[in-house]
Amino acid sequence: MLNLLLFGPPGAGKGTQANLLIEKYNLMHLSTGDILRSEIAAGTSLGLKAKTLMDRGDLVPDEVVIGMISSKLDNNPSANGFIFDGFPRTTAQAEALDNMLAKKGTTIAGMLSLKVEDEELIRRLLSRGKDSGRADDQDESIIANRINEYNTKTAPLKEYYSAQNKLSEIEGDGTIEDISQKLYTVIDTL
Ligand code: AMP
Repeated sequence: MLNLLLFGPPGAGKGTQANLLIEKYNLMHLSTGDILRSEIAAGTSLGLKAKTLMDRGDLVPDEVVIGMISSKLDNNPSANGFIFDGFPRTTAQAEALDNMLAKKGTTIAGMLSLKVEDEELIRRLLSRGKDSGRADDQDESIIANRINEYNTKTAPLKEYYSAQNKLSEIEGDGTIEDISQKLYTVIDTL
């Protein structure tokens, strides 16, 4: 199995690159943000609870996203591997993921961390918000809160995976193709 973490702040291009990587390496894309948005669209009680937090740009509780990932892993036993996008976002989530994968006899091959300056993130998110209709992409104070959540709770995970020798940092500026080529080069060494 090839399990990859696509990491980086909101607006770094994780979703865009994940869509290219799943094609090239025949992997399954697991985005907790996408799963949460489909729960909201389906009007489930989980979706309703998560929406208030997501609209503010706050993280949803660890047990909610860990449960979602756990059932995706259980329901796809014959996958070639997974690309985790937007998960894990806290140390508790990273530890839970390591445990879930270990129980299945597999592990994370590498963390691919996209690096983009804050001003560029804000520009990209506001531009995406015009098309996507995502409330959390349309308001600069919500975007600032998401970047702050990333810096305080999520960015420390680089240390966590670096301690396991799994961290690769990739400049997330440039064209989509430039960035995907850099990702392929790293992945092909894993
Ligand atoms: P994203 O689509 O990854 O930008 O996520 C959108 C929102 O969903 C985030 O701002 C959080 O409110 C929530 N979310 C997505 N993934 C997670 C996660 N792994 N842990 C906590 N909250 C999450």
